[in-house]
Amino acid sequence: MQIYQRTKELQMKKLEGKVAIITGSSRGIGKEIAIKLSHEGAKVIVNYSSSPEKAEEVVKQIKQQGGEATAIQADMSRVDQIQQLVTKAVEKYGQLDILVSNAGIEYFGKLEEITPEDFDRVFSLNVAGQLFVTQAAARYLTSGGRIVLTSSISAGKSVLYHTLYAASKAAVSAMVLNLAPELGERGITINAIAPGGTATDMAQENAKRYTHPSLQNVSPDALLKSKISLQRLAQPQEIAAAVTFLVSDDASYITGSTLAVDGGILF
Ligand code: NAP
Repeated sequence: MQIYQRTKELQMKKLEGKVAIITGSSRGIGKEIAIKLSHEGAKVIVNYSSSPEKAEEVVKQIKQQGGEATAIQADMSRVDQIQQLVTKAVEKYGQLDILVSNAGIEYFGKLEEITPEDFDRVFSLNVAGQLFVTQAAARYLTSGGRIVLTSSISAGKSVLYHTLYAASKAAVSAMVLNLAPELGERGITINAIAPGGTATDMAQENAKRYTHPSLQNVSPDALLKSKISLQRLAQPQEIAAAVTFLVSDDASYITGSTLAVDGGILF
């Protein structure tokens, strides 16, 4: 009987019966989170802003692997569209158990170059977007609900011309810390992940800017070795694995935390 019970436990997927929204999941880290949560049995909403084909590809891949997914367009920097996304998700699957707020944009610029429009663009997605999607999702989440926001290892590091992005990501860690007691009263956990350099379009576009101008002649490989204990970038699947842990029952006593998934940063 015990062996039967154990075998059944091992066969059960960790997120069977759950419904999850993953913002910005047409590409990069979000895509892998959507795929991984679906492997664990969750029905997933694949949100995107401007890549319908890529989002539909993710849905197709999930369905081919026996999962259930729906793509929904919504700009996460627009509060009206955030609310529509959450409403549509609940209409589609009848409930909401997990929110992974992953959509974000990178920004590099000198102090004198930063405009109010730049500030609004970065903060309306990276900060306000994450706050208001949390607010919208929290209306539907019940005890056992899970929220994971996306910070960055950049929040706690000095990088030349990275002020705006780093400040936006630091705000996310402060948000989860302070929302934890409010949501904790309802049995909901909220945490953030702080990825280090991860092999996605975003990293590809910005990798060079992380390097101080005086080190531009040093090979990218040597730089990675000097800055990261594991001597390589993360794969998006490795960030997705940490998120899957945080939204599972295994993380039932973790809230208000920012989990670094950075390969052991050295600088
Ligand atoms: P990415 O490759 O640039 O992909 C971004 C995703 O977000 C895409 O699916 C994109 O959708 C979506 N998105 C962008 N703007 C959006 C908006 N206004 N509304 C809804 N969706 C939007 O980025 P990534 O590297 O996977 O990064 C994902 C998250 O991790 C971000 O929050 C980023 O700051 C954080 N992060 C990344 C790294 C890294 O090294 N990659 C490190 C630390 C933290 P479309 O395809 O429709 O444009």
